[in-house]
Amino acid sequence: MQQLFHGLSAAPGVGIGDIYKYAPVVADDAGRTPAPPAGDPEEEWERFLAARLLVDEELARLAQIGQTATAEIFLVHREILHDSTLTDAVRAAIDAGSDATSATRQATGELVRLFRDLSDQYFASRATDIRDVGQRLVFRLGGITPARQLNPLPNDTILLAEDLTAFDTTHLDQAHVVGIALAASTPTAHTAILARSLGIPLVCSAGPEILQLHSGMFAVVDGIRGRLLVDPDEETLEQYQLTRSRLRRFQAEALSHSHEPALTPDGERIPVRVNVNSREDLLHIHSNGAEGIGLLRTENLFQHRTSPPTVAEQLTAYQDVHTYTNSHSLTVRLLDIGGDKPVPYLQPPAEANPFLGVRGIRLLLRHPQMLIDQAQALVDLARNVAPVSRIRILIPMISKVSEVHQTLKLLEDVPGYQRCRQLGTLEVGVLIEVPSAALLAQHFAPQVDFLSIGTNDLAQYTLAADRVNSAVATLATPLDPSVLRLIALTCDAGRAAGIPVAICGEVAGDPSVQPLLLGLGLNEISVAGPAVPMVKSAIRRVDMDAARTLAAKALQCSRAQEIHQLLHDFG
Ligand code: PEP
Ligand code: MG
Repeated sequence: MQQLFHGLSAAPGVGIGDIYKYAPVVADDAGRTPAPPAGDPEEEWERFLAARLLVDEELARLAQIGQTATAEIFLVHREILHDSTLTDAVRAAIDAGSDATSATRQATGELVRLFRDLSDQYFASRATDIRDVGQRLVFRLGGITPARQLNPLPNDTILLAEDLTAFDTTHLDQAHVVGIALAASTPTAHTAILARSLGIPLVCSAGPEILQLHSGMFAVVDGIRGRLLVDPDEETLEQYQLTRSRLRRFQAEALSHSHEPALTPDGERIPVRVNVNSREDLLHIHSNGAEGIGLLRTENLFQHRTSPPTVAEQLTAYQDVHTYTNSHSLTVRLLDIGGDKPVPYLQPPAEANPFLGVRGIRLLLRHPQMLIDQAQALVDLARNVAPVSRIRILIPMISKVSEVHQTLKLLEDVPGYQRCRQLGTLEVGVLIEVPSAALLAQHFAPQVDFLSIGTNDLAQYTLAADRVNSAVATLATPLDPSVLRLIALTCDAGRAAGIPVAICGEVAGDPSVQPLLLGLGLNEISVAGPAVPMVKSAIRRVDMDAARTLAAKALQCSRAQEIHQLLHDFG
């Protein structure tokens, strides 16, 4: 009999195949594999240190050359690898008579359990990262690891698990996995980012019930609506097969036109750009037909060092990124760090609620020299690439009009800033991701050159729902009417000031929401690289009058459900 499980869409597409239930031989499953006889404790400790060195080199390589979608993930894992809590526990277990592999399993296992039990969701989610590091160490020590459990896999595999680590995702048999269903996790978690970059449909937060399912069961992962269907009836299966082939046709068709502009039938031209988190995101900008970078996250450049990068170091990094834009514009977000992403050299105080703490511009205004240096590097970049290209500075986490004024004041004193801005080679904009900024946008829009809406945080802050907590993930939808009203207000403010309004949150990568976004008044879209061709193609089908009517109706809705229905009926 058909069984339906509701989750959240974390990577789009439809996957049809047989379930492979993945119960990882996790780092804490010490008893499952027979331990080799332990050697002399010093030898075992040497073995551990040698394995740690190999893992460290591997993580450093992955972080630097960006073999996966987010270099940041691997930098966090390097910190865990060197954390004395972990290494002291391994040493103690070895001294108590364990071999290096069992000691590593035991130590990481205890830490995983400790973190999992913490009531703070942020720390609880770090358990997955610790498990990841444990897996890498055990792998290097010659123990059983997911690499062997996840590769090779049969054709058309639907991978089902409680959660996946970045290590799992990079080691899985990507050619044969057609869909992933996870009991936990969220659409903004590392695994979701990786799945999107691999183009594998993913449903997360599907609930612990799915862990009762067995390997070999026939299933459909619906990454569009966030559903897992087991044993679908004939009619449903047929519909999904049709959807899958339609999607594949659309994708092939979209890719063949990806270098053409996104022009609506009424002649509205919408630039479609990419969000860049890591070096790997840069590699496909051109093949996807993106018109520049709509959001360059700069946090990686500042983390995992003992002092901030110099102006010259930053300029080199930005120049390198700029070479991938093909002379299109490059939007660089000022450092959005603090709270949940601490940088040791700033000595941040511990915060109970880091997402509501000293983050983004709040931190920069307390460390103005960091803001000035980053701005100087961007001014220098603008001078170097003028007149063929345009650089945009994006200010994150604005919640007060006074913060805009203070930031502009600091920027104006940066040598060369005013001249570049007069010439139009340098622009400055505000990231709208806090409800107060959307509500007050009309007051600062006239002083800036563009606005960009970050719906990931805007939804989190509007609905008071932590974006990394799967227990409240369904609440934090950017398609909630409350968030749409804030988007509409922002667009109104942009229109009144005569400046463009962009969107760079994850929701913008969904082709089916384009009529709503354009109808609300957005002028520019920035999305993950692989989404660019389909988003462009969707824009080409948008009738602007119909889109405005759709947006007006959506703004009258009281529930997200009704908005999904409107989109479904429209499409
Ligand atoms: C957002 O908040 O929507 C955004 C684009 O920024 P980030 O996901 O990096 O917070
Ligand atoms: Mg944000």
